[in-house]
Amino acid sequence: MHNKKVLLIYTGGTIGMITDQSSGALRPFNFSQITQQVPELLKFKCAIDSIAFEKPIDSSNMNPETWVSLVKMIEQNYEEYDGFVVLHGTDTMAYTASAVSFMIKNLSKPIVFTGSQLPIGIIRTDGKENLITAIEIASAYKNHVPLVPEVALYFEYKLFRANRTTKLSAHHFNAFESFNYPILAEAGIDIDYRFNVINPLPKDKKVEFQYQFETGISVLKLFPGISQDTVTHHLAQPNIKAIILETYGSGNATTEKWFLEAIEKAIQQGIIIINITQCKSGKVDQTKYETGKGLHKLGVVGGSDLTIESAITKLMLILGNTSDKSKVIEQFERNWVGEKG
Ligand code: ASP
Repeated sequence: MHNKKVLLIYTGGTIGMITDQSSGALRPFNFSQITQQVPELLKFKCAIDSIAFEKPIDSSNMNPETWVSLVKMIEQNYEEYDGFVVLHGTDTMAYTASAVSFMIKNLSKPIVFTGSQLPIGIIRTDGKENLITAIEIASAYKNHVPLVPEVALYFEYKLFRANRTTKLSAHHFNAFESFNYPILAEAGIDIDYRFNVINPLPKDKKVEFQYQFETGISVLKLFPGISQDTVTHHLAQPNIKAIILETYGSGNATTEKWFLEAIEKAIQQGIIIINITQCKSGKVDQTKYETGKGLHKLGVVGGSDLTIESAITKLMLILGNTSDKSKVIEQFERNWVGEKG
């Protein structure tokens, strides 16, 4: 008798590909035959079912519509399964996983994203270990309570909080990092769960799914020498509701008059400006330097230690639900599921 049930959802990406014998090219394999590729799955104590996107996609083609399709699959199966493993291309996995963490309120079951750098059919693949351990984590319960009741990302022996991750390497097996939050678990001979940093079960048991996104946002990465033209054109784009400024260090930007005036004008026109640092670790503090204070005084919203992936997906989801500027800012600044310090 299997005691736990896990649903495997294949969206696309390298992990689900095999080499076509005739052409030598990589192509997605029929996911319903996953146990032929990974016979180890038959040895699990939990029951594993799998479903796949009708047309598996490279994760570069993910967008809010595909996030919605994915979360609908989870919602439709939420009661029936104890945990979910999402197989996803690594390129935008941090975005999708962050978005999913914000789309589901009061999540009380594990959702573990994973993928691989080498296809599962290749002899040196990292896909088998990633898949097998992700299933183990998604089915891990003690006294009917899941060990990881949150959206997580498992890669190369480490379990991360999904909305804290960034893809770091296009080459190494350890492709992901979470710079501003400790790992949730590490897999060795045993899986060592760090319960002090894992989200507890939500008090409110009623799970809720949110599906409305507003994509009218943009990211402006500052660099020394950025021209006035570039900045003013960027801020003047039509139908833009919010702009994320990627600033330096602890949230600093040039104090040139034309720059601050352009930001001020955009804010007066109702555009929300968010400050996220280009640094991978550390956080925005707009009161630390003169170069940050200018932005703070104009009403730029400090993004704390959010990753750019979290900032983008959280902002799109909030704007999909309200256009009231003060509500957007209030919701953005609130910590939803441990995405910020
Ligand atoms: N381009 C692939 C994707 O993100 C790479 C991968 O799966 O790792 O879908």
